[in-house]
Amino acid sequence: MTVDEHLKAVYRDPTRSISERVADLLSRMSLEEKIGQMMQLDARGDLEDHVLRRHVGSILHTSPERVLRANELTGMTRLRIPLLVAEDCIHGHSFWPGATIYPTQLGMAASWDPELVEKVARATALEVAATGVHWTFSPVLCVARDLRWGRVNETFGEDPFLIGELASAMVRGYQGAGLGDPTAILATAKHFAGYSETQGGRDASEADISRRKLRSWFLPPFERVAREGCRTFMLGYQTMDGVPITTNDWLLTDVLRGEWGYTGTLITDWDNVGRMVWEQRVQPDYAHASAAAVRAGNDMIMTTPGFFAGAQDAVEAGLLSPDAFDDAVARILALKFELGLFEDPRLPSPDRGEIIGSAEHARLNLDIARRSIVLLHNDGTLPLRASSALKIAVVGPLADDAQSQLGDWAGGSGQADWIDGQPRDMIATVVDGLREVLPTAGAIVHAPGAAILELHPDPLGETFPDGQPRPPIVLPCEPDPALIEEARALASVSDVIVAVVGDRIELVGEHRSTATLELIGDQNALLDAMIATGKPVIVVLMASKPLILPDCVREAAAIVWTANPGMKGGVALAEILAGRVEPSGRLPISFARHVGQQPTYYNQVRGQHGARYADLTQSPAWAFGEGLSYTTVEYGDPTLQVDVVGPDDILVAHVTVSNTGHRPVLETVQAYVRDDVTSASWADKELKAFQQVPLPPGETVRVRLEVPVAACTIVDAAGRRVVEPGEFDLLVGPSSRDSDLRRARFRVSD
Ligand code: BGC
Repeated sequence: MTVDEHLKAVYRDPTRSISERVADLLSRMSLEEKIGQMMQLDARGDLEDHVLRRHVGSILHTSPERVLRANELTGMTRLRIPLLVAEDCIHGHSFWPGATIYPTQLGMAASWDPELVEKVARATALEVAATGVHWTFSPVLCVARDLRWGRVNETFGEDPFLIGELASAMVRGYQGAGLGDPTAILATAKHFAGYSETQGGRDASEADISRRKLRSWFLPPFERVAREGCRTFMLGYQTMDGVPITTNDWLLTDVLRGEWGYTGTLITDWDNVGRMVWEQRVQPDYAHASAAAVRAGNDMIMTTPGFFAGAQDAVEAGLLSPDAFDDAVARILALKFELGLFEDPRLPSPDRGEIIGSAEHARLNLDIARRSIVLLHNDGTLPLRASSALKIAVVGPLADDAQSQLGDWAGGSGQADWIDGQPRDMIATVVDGLREVLPTAGAIVHAPGAAILELHPDPLGETFPDGQPRPPIVLPCEPDPALIEEARALASVSDVIVAVVGDRIELVGEHRSTATLELIGDQNALLDAMIATGKPVIVVLMASKPLILPDCVREAAAIVWTANPGMKGGVALAEILAGRVEPSGRLPISFARHVGQQPTYYNQVRGQHGARYADLTQSPAWAFGEGLSYTTVEYGDPTLQVDVVGPDDILVAHVTVSNTGHRPVLETVQAYVRDDVTSASWADKELKAFQQVPLPPGETVRVRLEVPVAACTIVDAAGRRVVEPGEFDLLVGPSSRDSDLRRARFRVSD
């Protein structure tokens, strides 16, 4: 095509409709160009090869220099199709030096605040869009199950309804006013679907999961965001019933595109197509693997360079017809037209310095960090009666470890080789936070007191067969009497001990599931020693996921869980300890008492010979929805507007909630529904609504809760989601524990 013809082509004309432009461009593309358009390759590889030879449609893991170079290269191609630039911007622009890093998704989930989560996603989109990235691989909609799984931190927790609410908020935030908005970035709902139903918590194992179970709990959040307009979905890694997720026609075609009418773009996970050959060994070669992936309805193939030749071989061998790629390519091109990339490839902005890591985003980060912290136990020591004489010993290996505090998908997580940490001065550790918030409160002294782990090379080699780095092996550190002694010495001259314990990045993430949930290394010994001092000990569990604390914490003055609280975590925590901010986080996930209790989620199917092991209760240490404040709150019995409702009605309930203490509270009023008798076994109760109400001391409010009867469903034995008429309980209270919930009976008529 000459330059002139190029300029006159219909697909170049922004006044034409997107479908006209897509059809025109598609008609001009060669088979090779179509196959390339379906590929996303790692920008750290050979960009010239990616763009000029393989005609890739997208790149990931890039930098402004690589984006600019790639853009130059697309300008040299026949059709000059712009690239979609993608990155894992998971809780902020994860791997961008100086970007705002928020609490992890699990931390944000503890806020139970979709509006705030939407603001975080919007602010993230501003930072991401300014760097020439169009697409983030977030949010994660996996339902957390076995807590040993390394990716629990990436989830919104264990409840499908809460996940759906928060994920939708995040999608709205990322995609902004619509893809035409230059600050909009594409959201990705991942990992579709069932990836988190691991065996033994092991990552990417076979997921032993039926279609009914998928429909019951794993698919609803995805269906929710599909309807919300989430423009891309990403697959997981697991096989189900022998079928790799990549070729699960039932899920990808019948359910996603068929039943839900999803028109967005579907991307595989990392080298899923290659893995079917070299890892899962369910395809003999790349031609067959590529053909199977295309037939199953995948649009974008992530980091499988062999797809380029494999798909061409598949056509030659008659496994695919030459037009088999058209639907996928059309969907990818439509995204590019909608984003307006043909007119403006949205290159890195020269003004990005003003947006990235801005003061406004730091304020938002502090807000969400405050809301993500959960107070689990308090004997009245908190809030600290801060006086200038108060001496605090801050001990623990995580009290002043800035990069570990940020967790997975952040500068120091080791997932990106171009960054080894975020700027230290942007991060407030617990030590920093206490010094900032309590400047006059006497001495704040610090000693790590314990080490966590040592790393040793994996005897199986430094890389996996696909060349990706294999994480080293973690060995727990032995107790070190000198470290503990140093902490004890500081504790003995202090009034209060703040002990910050938890996990480190080497125990978190992909390939890093843990066999146990205990604190690793000599952290338990440190806690024992601190409790033995007889001083009030405030245990701060800075852990990516629920961990199990040693028995001695029964004597702790207070226990707080912070997840990985982001750059402002230390300040937020200090403000809460000092009582400048009220604790308001509520657990989005249950905490086990013992690893053998897995799984511990609250909404389990009823009918399992009681609620005990012979040697332990099955009840969790802390249950979904729990979290304390600095005041006391009382609930009245819920009253219903009408107690007989039809399937299309909205059940309206009111409950009085009183702040009976002396401090304000942001109370999260939770409404669960229990279906009395179901035609197939079902969860004993499920969250259906929640409301957050600010309540000054001494005040009472009447909270209105609405539950659509259409949401009071089960999935019957035939796999249909239905409302079954009959008796139900509406259960309202401050957590999912039966002892916390008050009940109103209602009936659903035919
Ligand atoms: C992860 C995805 C991630 C992708 C790209 C995969 O290994 O499972 O969540 O988006 O890599 O980095």
